[in-house]
Amino acid sequence: MGFSDIIGQDKSLAVLRGALAKNRLHHAYLFTGPQGVGKRKIAISISMALHCMEKSGDPCGHCVECTRITAGNHPDVREIEPLPGKKEISIRQIREAEKELHYRSFTGGRKVAIIDPATLLNPASQNALLKTLEEPPMDSLLFLISPSASAVLPTLRSRCLRVSFGPIPRPLIADFLISNKGARPEEAGFLAALSMGSLGLALEMEGKELRETRREWVEMLAPLKGGNYRGAIDAAEALASNRDQTLKFLAWAESWYRDLLVYGLRQESGDVVNLDMLPELQRQQAQLGLERSLSTATAASDAGRNIQRNLNRRMVLEQFLFGIVGSR
Ligand SMILES: [Zn+2]
Repeated sequence: MGFSDIIGQDKSLAVLRGALAKNRLHHAYLFTGPQGVGKRKIAISISMALHCMEKSGDPCGHCVECTRITAGNHPDVREIEPLPGKKEISIRQIREAEKELHYRSFTGGRKVAIIDPATLLNPASQNALLKTLEEPPMDSLLFLISPSASAVLPTLRSRCLRVSFGPIPRPLIADFLISNKGARPEEAGFLAALSMGSLGLALEMEGKELRETRREWVEMLAPLKGGNYRGAIDAAEALASNRDQTLKFLAWAESWYRDLLVYGLRQESGDVVNLDMLPELQRQQAQLGLERSLSTATAASDAGRNIQRNLNRRMVLEQFLFGIVGSR
């Protein structure tokens, strides 16, 4: 792993690598952007570059320091996320991290803490972190990772240098899947389109029975009309069983309703993502109309963001599915 593995983030990466080369990295960064576009990977790559034994500016990826960082057991680089079974990053985790940031580095590099996602800091841990940001320990480097800047308290984000990362262009994701995962071009194009610019999501979906699952989702959504709220509640319960599944469903739902909009506007299938389901798409488009397609796609995207902010999955899904029930 290193900078060469990061795709589609040339501009932000150039700024960061420039600061790294001149030894002018800020003491705290807020990385914002959709999930799966490389934010955490870049934070880790910078940490590796700071500690790498080859000292070439780029992490070599195979020395002892680099290997320990990728394995998550380097004494100078700590990744902070909720502990297993917990929903939030606790104040205790932040206090421990702060204590460590004050120790001298084992390798003479910088002490790094990567908080991902910063949206899962509870109010107490945000306050503890604020103290660290106000008086950053010498040679410390903090990365806060979040889907959006607004999801982090203003007092925290004003003390960080913000770098935003956009969705990765579709062709780059497709090329990556073909050259690194041996995906067939048709499959790669499909996954790239469905991933909405998230390489992380494309990789997760790769190799799984996504086509089958999508059929199940379409069949599940079909009876949700005309006041079938009971059906929506049951569907929400089934989909909420795990977070990944909820996120995948909502990413797909966004693509599906966007397809309905695109097809409705152009009456041709050139930009349609769910191309293999065109007959069903045509049928639903005739029923739903443009305005509803757009509002449901937006609702799916909002719901996905709310899941990433850790709102209750079932509640978010019910709200989204009730919107569908009420619209038909
Ligand atoms: Zn190295």
